[in-house]
Amino acid sequence: MLRFVGLFMAGLLMGEPLAFAQIPADERVVEFFREILSKDANAHWIMALITLIVLTAFLLILLLRVTVKRKIKRLRQEINERKKVEEHLRLSRLRYQTLFNKASDGIMFMDISGKIIGANESFAKMHGYSIDEIMKMDIRDLIDPSTAAHVQERLSRVLKGETLQFEANHIKKDGSISTQEISTSYIAIGDEHFIQSFHRDSAERKLLEGQLLTIARSDALTQLPNRVCFLEKAGLELAHAKRTGRQCAILFVDLDHFKNVNDTLGHSVGDELLKDSAAKMATCIRGTDILARLGGDEFVVLLNDLENEQGAQYTAERIREKFNAPRVIAGHDLFITASVGIAVYPHDGELLEDLLKNADTAMYAAKASGRNMFCFFNQVMHENAASKMHVERCLRDALVKKEFALFYQPIVGMADGRIRGFEALLRWFKTDGGLVLPDGFISVAEETGLIVPIGEWALHEACRFNKKLVDAGYTDLVMSVNMSVAQLRWKNLVGMIKNALDHSGLRPELLEVEVTESLFIESLDAAVDVLNAIRALGVQVSLDDFGTGYSSLVHLHKLPIGSLKIDRFFIREIAKDTDENAMIPAIIDLAHKLKLEVIAEGVETGVQLEKLLGNRCDYYQGYFLSKPIRADEVPLFLARACSPKFTGSIAPIK
Ligand SMILES: [Mg+2]
Repeated sequence: MLRFVGLFMAGLLMGEPLAFAQIPADERVVEFFREILSKDANAHWIMALITLIVLTAFLLILLLRVTVKRKIKRLRQEINERKKVEEHLRLSRLRYQTLFNKASDGIMFMDISGKIIGANESFAKMHGYSIDEIMKMDIRDLIDPSTAAHVQERLSRVLKGETLQFEANHIKKDGSISTQEISTSYIAIGDEHFIQSFHRDSAERKLLEGQLLTIARSDALTQLPNRVCFLEKAGLELAHAKRTGRQCAILFVDLDHFKNVNDTLGHSVGDELLKDSAAKMATCIRGTDILARLGGDEFVVLLNDLENEQGAQYTAERIREKFNAPRVIAGHDLFITASVGIAVYPHDGELLEDLLKNADTAMYAAKASGRNMFCFFNQVMHENAASKMHVERCLRDALVKKEFALFYQPIVGMADGRIRGFEALLRWFKTDGGLVLPDGFISVAEETGLIVPIGEWALHEACRFNKKLVDAGYTDLVMSVNMSVAQLRWKNLVGMIKNALDHSGLRPELLEVEVTESLFIESLDAAVDVLNAIRALGVQVSLDDFGTGYSSLVHLHKLPIGSLKIDRFFIREIAKDTDENAMIPAIIDLAHKLKLEVIAEGVETGVQLEKLLGNRCDYYQGYFLSKPIRADEVPLFLARACSPKFTGSIAPIK
């Protein structure tokens, strides 16, 4: 029986009733119950009592077990939470300690008597002491007498609850003075009262600020003042000149063909050249003058306190002479001259802005006059500049008002009179009725970049018109479109040509791009790359105005062109007995050897035509055949030119 009750209790306490269920049947226990039940009614009561006691014991044990389990769980939770709080406090203390120790600013605590009660490494270091030494000191040991009264006054205010920032001189261990920016406040935590302060060496900040200011105001490459610094200094000089009634001058200096150096030898050589140029110019000016680099290869000099213009001329001559000698840069022999423009205060302007603009204009005049020289600004330049600005404004309007038109000049086979195609020529019809030929506006359009939208319009229009001719049955006429150097340097040019072809639906081989020799002046390789990209579209390329420019016969074989157009200058000379006359057969022969077609431009007489025919020139264009005609006159021209009676020339259409 005892074993039964024991096993029963153990099973309940363990929470595993199965253990009880698995107790093997005990014959003696079974027999005991059987005996009791088989006796009398009292036996039943005894049985009921035993059952009640067992059940009560079971319930009590169950209740005890649940209570104990809950208590254990709560205890575990409390232990975990306490551990978390302790870990949080530990990390927080560690973070604070690290922040305190590693802060770049000095941090110090002192009690209200001035005794230092805490300091970090930076504070100790900025005074030249160890932490242990600092902890034995009083703040008064560190303050220089020169600022002691000032500090005392500030601290008394801090003790009243103010938070203050101020500067004070501290004495370092080696006796030197450290000027510090201090931010300090009064802290009360419970019974503890103390003052905390943050210290920063202001000498370091001032040095850093000075360095940043120098960087912001100087040119990193040459170490000269930059544009910002120059404008500031020059403004002061002009104000001084105004007060004293003296003259001063602005010299705008630009290196000639500097871009060639960057393109052919690389930017590192270009940079060395700029540094060398800056050094050369610095030797040409007085200590009180200002030399600055505005950007790229543009330098500017302000000469102050001049008696007269001769001083400016003298300096410009010295600069020119300095540049007028070969120099070796990064192992390369370079001969790079400079063009200088001069504007004098107050004669050429009273405002710095005007003087700079006028010196720039004069510099461009020096370049236009052949470079390697200097020019004083004058009224004519001013008028030219004003006129250019006017043309630029009108050109912008013209684009909006659609004042441009294309005229077409035919190109005809020399031997058979077959029409090769047309050259599209731009005309500007102003709304006031005036006609402007390209010579009157192309240079301004190129300078201002307006050539790109104007050229784009012309290209689209020429393609559209030729497609119209194709649709009318003239299926193999080539439309030649002039491209300026500025357009060819434009990065999206190839995309623009493709776009014009796609829009119009013109076959690429029916479009020809005419480029001039000036394209090859700056970089032959870059120009060849652009032309190859154009030819890759299937578009033809022709070299225009051949013989007047740079390319010469030497470079001809390198150029990806299909034809060349001999300049009208040679054609005019052809009937005369001159050296130029002798050039034509040579040009034509060479072109044919290079498998290029030759087109003569500006043919105006039958004699010229005959001579060209004798020299086996392939095509010609010019007034002898037809002047440039309007789009609506082209069908009539074609109708007459394609008739069997056509002889290669027609009367100009009035
Ligand atoms: Mg042309």
